[in-house]
Amino acid sequence: MLYYSINNPKEKVSLREAVLKSISGNSGLYMPSKIPKLPAAFFKNLHRMSLKEIAFEVSKSMLGDDVPSSELKKIIEVALSFPIPLKKLNENLFVLELFHGPTLAFKDVGARFMAGLFEYFLANENREVIILVATSGDTGSAIANAFFNKKGVKVVILYPSGKVSPLQEKQLTTMGGNITALEVKGNFDDCQDLVKKAFSDEKINRKINLTSANSINFGRLLPQTFYYFHAVAQLGKNPKRVVISVPSGNFGNLTAGLIAKKMGLPVYKFIAATNKNHSVPDFLKSGKFKPGKTVFTISNAMDVGNPSNFSRMLYIYKGNAQQISYDIKGLWYNDNQTRQSIGELYKKYSYQPDPHGAIAYAGLNGFGLTKNQTGIFLETAHPAKFPMEVEKSTGKKVTLPSSLKKLLLLKKKAIKISKEFSILKKILLELE
Ligand SMILES: *Cc1c(COP(=O)(O)O)cnc(C)c1O
Repeated sequence: MLYYSINNPKEKVSLREAVLKSISGNSGLYMPSKIPKLPAAFFKNLHRMSLKEIAFEVSKSMLGDDVPSSELKKIIEVALSFPIPLKKLNENLFVLELFHGPTLAFKDVGARFMAGLFEYFLANENREVIILVATSGDTGSAIANAFFNKKGVKVVILYPSGKVSPLQEKQLTTMGGNITALEVKGNFDDCQDLVKKAFSDEKINRKINLTSANSINFGRLLPQTFYYFHAVAQLGKNPKRVVISVPSGNFGNLTAGLIAKKMGLPVYKFIAATNKNHSVPDFLKSGKFKPGKTVFTISNAMDVGNPSNFSRMLYIYKGNAQQISYDIKGLWYNDNQTRQSIGELYKKYSYQPDPHGAIAYAGLNGFGLTKNQTGIFLETAHPAKFPMEVEKSTGKKVTLPSSLKKLLLLKKKAIKISKEFSILKKILLELE
């Protein structure tokens, strides 16, 4: 399978290059040249298959011979080492819990599979890559955890000092080994600026192999298709029409859902549920895309004014705005509505969601399911990652998973730096 840069379909690269480079020279995102349809026999058997079996069939059909079957099985075995249960709240309402990975957010799924691909592609090479990521919280910890101890890879994380939660900071700064955490005196944008400067610095690029592993990497997108199949599988034989609500920021998660549908998964509608950063719901209504300035909300992992995967969504639909709006309904909610939704889930179903999942649930309510439809909302983070908001809206204490309790006892190891680029440059060039 070849991968196209969607800014320039003439530029074709291998899976290896698409994954290791992350983004093409003309800042285009990579997409597979063709999205394969899975055979009828696969769907007939789907309800009997495990998550790992599904992951193998789906990724095999997409990757072909780019990764040998035995290697692919190994990558899946390591990456998907936790369950993704579909829980029933009532006859028509289900929640897909994506937060049972080591950093308690759905980003573990993508990051861990991608880390496996990196390791495979670098295994027979005598070189080392340095992954540089700026993070506002969840992405950095998922990447750090996924790449910890992976051969041939070092990870450098930049995070804004005082602007990530205490728990997130522990997740970023306690790994050690091949993970270096840099605490930047500045905000998230300053961290991103530093990353951009590093990527365009001539000396750095001459001396080290720098790559980004951010959310636009195709290696993170593919594994996110697995759990859409797994969700439908868990509904059993002959489910009713399926409506899936996806809490969205950069729209990688929803894009993966659209790819799953293209591969043949019977999903009747998707809901693009956002917070006040609602450029995509607006587009789905008006057909016009106007990225906005980022607005800060209590569902902060979705605070994205200009979602990077929007161009992929358009590409899947060949730019046909009408067809996109037929398949996806866009709905958005402000912070008070999010709090209400958290409270409602707890009151009606004794279910304690996090703010992101609560927005997806609100989306199903806004959509208005009929009797012959089944609604699934994606729960993307563990409520313990946002204890204050969740406790305020439910009146119930959030229980910390034991892994988090242990984490809070570990000692933070971070290098404090200013937003002066020369300091980052020195650290990168001297990294051991
Ligand atoms: C990243 C994130 C999202 C948004 O996912 P996208 O793929 O960027 O749309 C939603 N919820 C949580 C908890 C996240 O960490």
